[in-house]
Amino acid sequence: MDFELTREQSEFRDVVRRFVAREIRPVAHKWEQEGRYPSEIVEAMAEMGLFGMSVPTSFGGLGLDMVSIAIVFEEISKGWMGVAGVLGSHSLACCLLAQHGTPEQQDRFLPALATGRRRTGIGLTEPGAGSDLQGITTRATRDHDDYIVQGTKMWITNARHANPLLVLVKTDPTVHPPHRGMSVLLVEQGTPGFYVSRDLGKLGYKGPETCEVVLDGARVPANNLLGGVEGRGLQQILSALETGRINVAARSVGLAEEALELAMEYSRNRVAFGQPISDYQTIQVKLADMATEIQAARLLTYWAASRIDAGYRADRESGMAKLFSSEVAIRCSLEAMRIHGAYGYSTEFDVERLYRDAPLMVIGEGTNEILRSVIAKSLLVQTKRES
Ligand SMILES: Cc1cc2nc3c(=O)[nH]c(=O)nc-3n(C[C@H](O)[C@H](O)[C@H](O)COP(=O)(O)OP(=O)(O)OC[C@H]3O[C@@H](n4cnc5c(N)ncnc54)[C@H](O)[C@@H]3O)c2cc1C
Repeated sequence: MDFELTREQSEFRDVVRRFVAREIRPVAHKWEQEGRYPSEIVEAMAEMGLFGMSVPTSFGGLGLDMVSIAIVFEEISKGWMGVAGVLGSHSLACCLLAQHGTPEQQDRFLPALATGRRRTGIGLTEPGAGSDLQGITTRATRDHDDYIVQGTKMWITNARHANPLLVLVKTDPTVHPPHRGMSVLLVEQGTPGFYVSRDLGKLGYKGPETCEVVLDGARVPANNLLGGVEGRGLQQILSALETGRINVAARSVGLAEEALELAMEYSRNRVAFGQPISDYQTIQVKLADMATEIQAARLLTYWAASRIDAGYRADRESGMAKLFSSEVAIRCSLEAMRIHGAYGYSTEFDVERLYRDAPLMVIGEGTNEILRSVIAKSLLVQTKRES
């Protein structure tokens, strides 16, 4: 058993860390407060090749292993979690294309997605269905060489930049179980009837846009059906979600690490009753608990990532990593805030941003309630097989 990063992974982490120190940290606080889109950071990430981290090298991507991808999300989230969100659904959509796209779709989209010249995202959630994806109502009806798509997608990150947006639709709403009638369409910008209807206001996760998207009779060419075969959409999405859960777990670890760093620095400098508050045992208990939970979260995340790198399906492992790490992110951001006293409540200090960003981690890529049921089901199936 080896708990160390390889030399390449460790050197790569240093490169990303320096990038975050140079390009993200100096502007994160101001731009987040202003609600400004981080265009310059996005350009710098593209120059580093980060939009191609989950794209195979044969299409011009970095083709990184899952542990290195986790490192990217962790390090960027220490600087500003919202920026990691720009890469999140893009990388997930790239995985989907790389795993399930037809050779023609891969040739058409992956090289430009690898460089960031094209960007992408995932459109699953609807106003009436999120966790229950089989309950979506967006309908794609075949019309000669096209699909006519009717429906609304909600909470879509990167919607204004995604080209194509990977949209989950029902190609056959009559079939049972419903997932057999679900497919993914690659919907390109400029498609008549496909538009962003509004940006959604958010507690945190500022930086990337999150939007409502309308498909009102949008005409999508049939050769934009992911993989070219109808009825496989939900399985395609679920196969990629395990990597998405590792990305959210890693973002949570990074956010929690930053909370601990800020809490340690503040507690060393804040004097109360004649001594730094870090001298008080109650504060030390908080710091020790935070550090211990973060270490556990990081190990769980890297372990889940290495299961994927070893070629296994890792739904349960990635679910455990995301469940645990996101709860750690919430606890650590709250503890860091309390250690800051009134300043933790001030918009002048970074810690309040961590507190606003952390709750998204328990919702995205499967809520923690749903993940508990995914983990439990996989345990029960395994014990049944073994008995
Ligand atoms: C900032 C942000 C960005 C997002 N980006 C994207 C994106 O890019 N693309 C995209 O497709 N979606 C995106 N989402 C949507 C996100 O994936 C969904 O919000 C999430 O899947 C939950 O769906 P829901 O909000 O409809 O909640 P619901 O499914 O309505 O759930 C509501 C509550 O009920 C619980 N619940 C539901 N079913 C069960 C059950 N069977 N057992 C126990 N509890 C249950 C849930 O855990 C939750 O607590 C984003 C959301 C946010 C907030």
